[in-house]
Amino acid sequence: MRGATGREVLLALNVGSSSLKFAIAAEGAPDTLLLSGNAERIGSGAAFLKVAVPGSAARKTELPGADHARAVRAVAEAGEGALGGARVVAVGHRIVHGGVGFTEPVRLDADAIRALEALIPLAPLHQPMGLQGVRVAQALFPRAVQIGCFDTAFHADQPWVQAAFALPRAFYDAGIRRYGFHGLSCQSIRRTLLAEGYPVEARRVVIAHLGNGCSVTAMHGGVGVASSMGFSTLDGLTMGTRTGRIDPGVLIHLLREGYAMPDLEDLLYRKSGLLGLSGLSNDMRDLLASEAPAAADAVAHFVARAVEEICRLAGVMGGLDAVVFCGGIGENAGVIRDRIADGIAFLGVPELLVRETREEHEILLAAQETTAR
Ligand code: ADP
Repeated sequence: MRGATGREVLLALNVGSSSLKFAIAAEGAPDTLLLSGNAERIGSGAAFLKVAVPGSAARKTELPGADHARAVRAVAEAGEGALGGARVVAVGHRIVHGGVGFTEPVRLDADAIRALEALIPLAPLHQPMGLQGVRVAQALFPRAVQIGCFDTAFHADQPWVQAAFALPRAFYDAGIRRYGFHGLSCQSIRRTLLAEGYPVEARRVVIAHLGNGCSVTAMHGGVGVASSMGFSTLDGLTMGTRTGRIDPGVLIHLLREGYAMPDLEDLLYRKSGLLGLSGLSNDMRDLLASEAPAAADAVAHFVARAVEEICRLAGVMGGLDAVVFCGGIGENAGVIRDRIADGIAFLGVPELLVRETREEHEILLAAQETTAR
């Protein structure tokens, strides 16, 4: 995709811990995908890349042992193969944490990258991935504009009572506050609802993003006003491998008992949630298919926490008009949606919607708008 001739294209990169999703659209037409796909199991012997031209079946290429840099190179090669001669003019990146400073998409110059690197301690398991994607893309497409799109940005207007922990005020001023994540997903859902003519401005909506990572976000009048995720991506719902809400006293206890910091991080981010509760799997499909009592317990925990958090957000908004389910579980697991719906039925929620979240599309739109500015 580095040829000097041919059409100009936008590339969206959504780099996760072991996955990468991408989408390519023509410059000036970010709504029409030319190519999209995803790499999974990056860092393992089973890594692969799937690429699809709209309207045809995805093609899978094995990438054994590929790291993120190799996966991005494979995306570039797939683009060259399918769109030979096209020139990448802008690369949009999903960056999980924008801190207090980045509340809309920005061109990633050296100063911006330095500022985002300084946020790594706030999101140690997520921020480095996105920034690595930026470095790889800079090397591959040196003439393209690099643009950062932030998951925290959707939540930047949360009122202080939602954003502040009840710690001494200086902690809030130092950035120890609730940020909220899954913001690109929320933006995408808001855009979809608006396109359908849904009166977002006049509604109190909970967006339930239920995937491996899970969060619920209160969107009041189209603005993110509260979220189940907080300072980090750990808080809130029971997730695939993350704890969600936990009494901080447990952490003090474990530290006092001699838990080392890397072990604690590993426990909270990778060994808990559905995986830890079931002892079987972090994957909802596996648990729903299992007859083990521990699988049923894990699913019950997942549902209970989702119900509780949705009720809390209804309280924040003074009522609830709709819940939008998205993410792998939200979109596909009807039985989980039904159980959550039963749990919140007493609230009298009039609308339960299921929508696809299109984060790469959000990134393409941001890349288009930011390069045009
Ligand atoms: P990520 O947060 O990594 O992007 P996804 O949004 O792809 O994850 O969601 C992954 C989750 O969705 C897994 O728990 C998976 O089991 C679940 N899932 C996907 N399809 C189904 C299905 N048909 N029924 C139940 N769960 C599903």
